[in-house]
Amino acid sequence: MAEAGSFADRVKQQADIVRVVGEYVRLKKSGQNFTGLCPFHAEKSPSFAVHPTKQIYHCFGCGVGGDVFKFVMEMEKCAFPEAIRIVAEKCGIPVPRQKERSPEERKENQQRALLVEMHREAQSFFVKQLEGTLEGKAARAYLEDRGLDKDGIERFGIGYAPSGGDALLRQLKSKYNEKLLAESGLVSRDQSAGRLFDRFRRRITFPIANESGKIVAFGARALGDDMPKYLNSPETPIYSKSNVLYHMDRAKEGIRRQEFAILVEGYMDVIAVARAGINNVVASCGTSLAEPQIKLLQRFTKRVIVNYDPDAAGQTATERSLSLLLEQDFEVRVLALPPVGNKKADPDLFIREMGTETYLKLVKEAPPYVDYLIARARQMDLTTGEGKLRAVNFLLPYVQKIPNRILRSEWATRIAQQLRLEEPVLRAALGKAATERRSEVKTQPELVGRPAKPVERRLIRMLAEAEGFRQELAKQLQNARLYHGLETEKIFAALVIASLSGQAVQATEVGAALEERDRRLFFEILFEEANEPTWEEAESCIEALQQRQAERELADVQRSIEANPAAPELRGLLEKKQELMRRLAATR
Ligand SMILES: [Zn+2]
Repeated sequence: MAEAGSFADRVKQQADIVRVVGEYVRLKKSGQNFTGLCPFHAEKSPSFAVHPTKQIYHCFGCGVGGDVFKFVMEMEKCAFPEAIRIVAEKCGIPVPRQKERSPEERKENQQRALLVEMHREAQSFFVKQLEGTLEGKAARAYLEDRGLDKDGIERFGIGYAPSGGDALLRQLKSKYNEKLLAESGLVSRDQSAGRLFDRFRRRITFPIANESGKIVAFGARALGDDMPKYLNSPETPIYSKSNVLYHMDRAKEGIRRQEFAILVEGYMDVIAVARAGINNVVASCGTSLAEPQIKLLQRFTKRVIVNYDPDAAGQTATERSLSLLLEQDFEVRVLALPPVGNKKADPDLFIREMGTETYLKLVKEAPPYVDYLIARARQMDLTTGEGKLRAVNFLLPYVQKIPNRILRSEWATRIAQQLRLEEPVLRAALGKAATERRSEVKTQPELVGRPAKPVERRLIRMLAEAEGFRQELAKQLQNARLYHGLETEKIFAALVIASLSGQAVQATEVGAALEERDRRLFFEILFEEANEPTWEEAESCIEALQQRQAERELADVQRSIEANPAAPELRGLLEKKQELMRRLAATR
């Protein structure tokens, strides 16, 4: 709960839920709300809505809902204090120092902060080595040869790790203890002697930043023939390779604007593409794409152009990435660059040789992934039955992952034509594959869309937002006990209490006082399209409730009469019946 006047409350006042949610979900304006595909359940058409003035979200599919903090807690799988911090940072609100953390947590945070600091120092060390040393000169020559001028080197923070073996270690040793140094991944420990030494030696270094732009690791390319050609930081407390996409910190704005991302293999490819003016490019840092990386990407776009190297390793990586992306329902195109002369071209080489314009044109024309896969299958031997079977088996897992049935069927036809296969045979195989497809998350109907009569919905809405007469309305409803016995009784009760306080009603606070199923119904009502409430309308709603109350009481009285009570009681009941019937006649 955001206590009034607390830091959480201040953040909530200033944070724009549409902007924060918009970093995770692509939102479109729709009437007074914003809608998009729910990040909490799989769906094809948007049932997830964000209310800009009430600052709440609600999913009509799976029923989740809450305020900006709840959203971040669910998305980031974090606790409330962490969510406040994240939202504050996203909105540029300075966060006061945390005092109430547990000692372990505080220690871990300190350690992480030190590791980030250490990486910053290593970065300036590497940059100085490239600029100002004799050894660095050779590295500069290599970079120049690859078309990287001073500008490009600076822009991407490229540096150089010298060959000595302990130059960085000596620099860091005075400030950090051995344990932390070993944990940083910047230095390694000699297995036999236990000595520390620089992990990166005689290598060109590329700083790898996390999504918020902090350097958390390095990638390094051997300058000579040292193996491996590319060496990365190991997993550390601040770096997990499957969680980070290279260049994401700088690409995210471009990705959001362009509504797609280009996925390449390595740092040099990212640098080449970005320098060509195409900023929406990221790399999976030398590993094949991992699910957390896809989740990260998904926050900004669901459209990807995969542009990996054309060699066998690149093809395998492309196909593995395709599988994962399709599973997450991405729209994927594949850009397979043609050879330059007789050389297979990665994006870096291609742009250098053929120019930006040619590359851009190919990006625009990149075919859907199925075309790429068909082309791959056609390279197989299709003259024998066995060969055809192999081709089908190659394609099937991908086609199987297409969530849309019609699209799946269209592709089946196309594959059959292109590979000259018997369509019924292929279809049978596809049909079988489709039934084995991982089914979508089903919504739980018993938790969603509870019925409430229009008049109840309308009154609930008025209590939530009719500033002018909310208090008066609450009084009348409470005095006449008009909402007692209704299915929405608890929602009314919470709203009446809030309204009688005379203060503005906070949807999330009322929601927090309710059971989950009531909270869902309440949010659903808040998201309905509705006219400005008027007191006249409120009065007619009250009348309708009075009538229903009278009807209910009449039915009760009738039951009592039919139960044959003793004479004195019967008399009272009959009088009551008369009175109720009069009341009902008056309201009709
Ligand atoms: Zn949902």
